[in-house]
Amino acid sequence: MLGKESTLTVICEIYAADPSVRGAHLDRTHAFINGTSVFLRPIGLEHRPCLVDIRRPRGKAFAAWRVATALSPAKDEQGAAPEHGFGVYRAADYDELIDHPCELGTFALAGFTACGVPHQVAISGRHDCDLGRLTTDLQRICEWQIRFFGEPAPMSHYLFLINAAGEGYGGLEHRRSTALLCARDDLPYPGMKGLPERYRNFLGLCSHEYFHTWNVKRIKPAAFAAYDLGVENYTTLLWAFEGFTSYYDDLALLRSGLIKPGEWLALLGKTMDKVLNLPGRHRQSLAESSFDAWTKFYRPDENTPNAVVSYYTKGALVALALDLTLRAGTDGRVTLDDLMRALWQRHGLSGQPVADDDIRRLAEQLSGLDLRGFFATAIDGTTDLPWRRLLKKFAVRMRRTASEPVPSLDGKLLDDGREVKLAAVYERGALQRAGLSAGDVLLAIDGLRVTPASIKRLLARRRAGEKIVVHAFRGDELRQFTVRLAPPARDTHQLRCQTRANALRQSWLGK
Ligand SMILES: [Zn+2]
Repeated sequence: MLGKESTLTVICEIYAADPSVRGAHLDRTHAFINGTSVFLRPIGLEHRPCLVDIRRPRGKAFAAWRVATALSPAKDEQGAAPEHGFGVYRAADYDELIDHPCELGTFALAGFTACGVPHQVAISGRHDCDLGRLTTDLQRICEWQIRFFGEPAPMSHYLFLINAAGEGYGGLEHRRSTALLCARDDLPYPGMKGLPERYRNFLGLCSHEYFHTWNVKRIKPAAFAAYDLGVENYTTLLWAFEGFTSYYDDLALLRSGLIKPGEWLALLGKTMDKVLNLPGRHRQSLAESSFDAWTKFYRPDENTPNAVVSYYTKGALVALALDLTLRAGTDGRVTLDDLMRALWQRHGLSGQPVADDDIRRLAEQLSGLDLRGFFATAIDGTTDLPWRRLLKKFAVRMRRTASEPVPSLDGKLLDDGREVKLAAVYERGALQRAGLSAGDVLLAIDGLRVTPASIKRLLARRRAGEKIVVHAFRGDELRQFTVRLAPPARDTHQLRCQTRANALRQSWLGK
């Protein structure tokens, strides 16, 4: 009917069996609703306010179910939801509606306050989490981050929505909440001592998604400012939003006192392993990696290690390099922290999107340095940054060693327990030069059968430079190759503080 408001009722059924943080999942134990997977988009009416009436499923089994979401209850509506209850919730528009995931079920619930902002933690799935320990640690991280960008915090309340499963890892950021998937063994248990690696990684994930509250949910690249949900949205800036966030996620653990400088440097070394061991870093720049996220990063194949660099890990290393460059170039007067705060002031609080060159220009303004060369190499280039030289100024030594003293094949082996299959063959490496290809199944080396258990033993008896005869299946055809073994891969990066600290290192890592 034209010219007159009327009501259109649409009834639809949704298939919800995706346990990831970006989907929706429903069974008799719980429901996880990520708005994009459930709420239909009213094209042309996205700006209109939305009311959502979440109803309790009928039956005794659901009597104890509650609702966890950062959506606001529609207080002035009939049937408004009470806190954690079923009922009517409100969103200002469709964009807000899909930015607040909901969990329905019998989750565990705990809360804490960080800089005056109420925070809640809801954990679904079977677990034995020590909620007191988790909230104490999260509170330290959240308070550090709020103070880092400056009080008051940009959100009135915040929710960590955690799904504990047998295995799993993932997080998705939202303006007032985050949805996290973890293994139940990642969570702290009653009586746990210290900070085991699994729990530390989980806190790093929480810290990462929380940092996005500022960096990407409010400081945004231009392509995300007016997001078109109907098409892929391209930006060359993911290195700043995912990479810089990856630098600060673990750094927040250090700065809030949860880990020590040595531990943090060890984590940086692991990030270096991920970036500097793969040939793809010489093929794709960070700006390209960001732009190609839709077609390359999220569609990995056997050639990914040769063709792609991650804007997460290399982005984190570039954040490190920029931090060190700013500190060293200004005698510690200007740091990456200052740049992040300036981005927040100029682009986060104002809502002014970040254009391609804004970050370089702002860094130059703050520091007075000419950073064109740095950005040309780090963001648009594919050569390695001068890590040893950069770190030396901070009295930190970098060593590259081989994790195993075994000649290298320069490829990634897939071990399914039965056969040795080539998952990837690195560009210009020993296997590739010999003509082997990803997907080939190795059968024998020098006439002796190869198994996942025996291949390292066989290689350990050889030396780099020696030739071996490899038999392999390509499809169902038997082939023979001669491989000249490469030196053991120097695949481990160790960063260590030199005994004598200097002022630059102290202001960066603390005393
Ligand atoms: Zn992220």
